[in-house]
Amino acid sequence: MIMDESKFMVWYHQEASAFERKLHDKLYEFEDYFRDMCFEQGTATYELIKCQSKYNDLWIDDEAPRPNELEYFSYTFFKTSVEQLSNCEGYYNHEKQILCICPELVDNDATILHEMIHLHESVVNELPLYFHDMLYWALYQDLRAKIDGLDDAINQHAHILNESTLYTSGGLHDILFLLKSFDLDIRSGFALGTVFGYGRIDEFKYLEKNK
Ligand SMILES: [Zn+2]
Repeated sequence: MIMDESKFMVWYHQEASAFERKLHDKLYEFEDYFRDMCFEQGTATYELIKCQSKYNDLWIDDEAPRPNELEYFSYTFFKTSVEQLSNCEGYYNHEKQILCICPELVDNDATILHEMIHLHESVVNELPLYFHDMLYWALYQDLRAKIDGLDDAINQHAHILNESTLYTSGGLHDILFLLKSFDLDIRSGFALGTVFGYGRIDEFKYLEKNK
C-alpha cells in the first residue's frame, strides 16, 4: 500500500490539540540549537569529523560519513504529546520515541529544551560509543572557555550519589546532558542550571559566564 503522506499530515494536524501544535512548532523553533548533536557543518562537533578526500587527483576538504541517524535526522521520526502528568513536568520515552510535556508547561522553553536533550542523546547513545565521546569533548572544550568553575560543577555532578539519585528519579542525566544543558542556558540567556532543572539554578550560582 502506498501511504499518502499529505493526507496523513492533514489528519494529524486536525486531530492535534492547540497545545500539541504549539509543542510541535517549538521543536522546530529550537532545531538549530541541536545541530551539534547531529555533527552538522558549522558546529563544534563538526570539527571532529572533518577530513580530506581525494577526488580526480585532487585532495578536497570533506567530512567522514555520518550514520543515517544523524545524516537524516528529522523530528518527523518522533511523536509529541501534551498530557496531564501526575509526577513530572515532561518526559522522553526512548522505546516509544515520544516527547511529552504537561499542558501548563507547553510555553516553558526550559522544560521543552530539557526533554529535547533526552531525545537527541537517545539517538547518539544508539550509535557507537565514540559519538557520545566526541560530542562530550566538543561541548567541554567549547564551554570551558565560557564558564568559570565548569570543572567544579562537573566534579560535583559526577559523584555516584548524585548521578544515581538523578537516574532513579528521572532517568539518565549524565555529564554530557549537563554540558548540553549549560550550552542551551547560554544560547537562551538563562541562568546556568535552568534547562537542567532539579533545583540546579541555586547550586550553580557560583558559576560565572564569561562574555
Ligand atoms: Zn530529564
